[in-house]
Amino acid sequence: NSSLHELDPDVAAAVDAELHRQQSTLEMIASENFAPAAVMEAQGSVLTNKYAEGYPGRRYYGGCEHVDVVEQIAIDRVKELFGAEAANVQPHSGAQANAAAMFALLSPGDTILGLNLAHGGHLTHGMKINFSGKLYNVVPYHVDAKTGLIDMEEVERLAKEHRPKLVIAGWSAYPRQLDFAAFRRIADEVGAYLMVDMAHFAGLVAAGLHPSPVPHAHVVTTTTHKTLGGPRGGVILSTAELAKKINSAVFPGQQGGPLEHVVAAKAVAFKIAAGSAFKDRQERTLEGAKILAERLTRADVREAGVSVLSGGTDVHLVLVDLRDSELDGRQAEDRLHEVGITVNRNAIPNDPRPPMVTSGLRIGTPALATRGFTADDFREVADVIAETLKAPSPFGAAAAEALKARVTALADKHPLYPHLSK
Ligand code: PLP
Repeated sequence: NSSLHELDPDVAAAVDAELHRQQSTLEMIASENFAPAAVMEAQGSVLTNKYAEGYPGRRYYGGCEHVDVVEQIAIDRVKELFGAEAANVQPHSGAQANAAAMFALLSPGDTILGLNLAHGGHLTHGMKINFSGKLYNVVPYHVDAKTGLIDMEEVERLAKEHRPKLVIAGWSAYPRQLDFAAFRRIADEVGAYLMVDMAHFAGLVAAGLHPSPVPHAHVVTTTTHKTLGGPRGGVILSTAELAKKINSAVFPGQQGGPLEHVVAAKAVAFKIAAGSAFKDRQERTLEGAKILAERLTRADVREAGVSVLSGGTDVHLVLVDLRDSELDGRQAEDRLHEVGITVNRNAIPNDPRPPMVTSGLRIGTPALATRGFTADDFREVADVIAETLKAPSPFGAAAAEALKARVTALADKHPLYPHLSK
């Protein structure tokens, strides 16, 4: 019963260093967040020891009476949170949730219509070397080169031409809301299922700050760790009619024993997401992203060749367009890293640079909102980002140090996990 530090100082040191990194820098990767202490407590609990293949009340192992309670709570809470008829809380991740949902609805060789990866879609929406691209016949749709918005005319035209069995709406890098009713109308016209992958914006939906896909889609998948702010994991919501198919696609179709410690942590996260503090946090998330978009479209920033795709944002992230900047995506990511801000470079639609370099950045506000950032704090962060990106090359140590001091002041103002610091 040794502690981690006693038993394995090597791993403990890396965990401590990661805690310090999270505490001392500003996390602006749009898909990341900070799980609350209670979520981590559930995830680090004895439930990790339990095998529970099956579903509450119908398990293939003995001794499931307590994990049954936990899993049923998680199911009931997530159904209530999103107004869904049925829920499966067992997928180990968002990719697993999508794999299981597609396994339930499709046969290998069927046609799927999804947003192209380079235009903001996810790997599981039809990337060539992902399971989705290998098992299914993928027809990608795109964003319009001028507006940066999904070209719904193209979606309709491709649907009519290729008659997919599944239309996927959802994204990993897109700064606007989707028209779920239009997607459903198109799916109905060709007899396809509509699956919405709301992994990125589920927290906004839970807070009532983004339209819900649930009334429109046959199936809605999500991760639980992005805007939703819970443990890493996935969930599938569906109509009651599809529930049985989905459940058997998850287990035994795709997975063995569920991670009941993670299911418990999901249940805690769903409870938190139903509260007013969560709504306030999602409001600050949206406000922060809007402030960022405004400050990155100011004349002095535009003069440095930096702009924002689609001209702004309706969600928790901003896509920065560096095509006219002297910095490419990798250089911009490295510069921000130097001042203590973590973002990821991101291909923009029709990117002239290769995928390992890119001409864009994806910058998100969920983690900082969880940390307590207010509109004033987001203005300061946005100014630091703007000054970092527009500074002439070479980016000298003095400029970096001055900007880093402003980042450190913000990090110190909003302590993260103080109870974990020694
Ligand atoms: N779906 C979307 C839209 C995503 O952005 C992601 C993750 O980035 C996933 C699914 C996959 O989630 P995971 O990394 O948990 O497999």
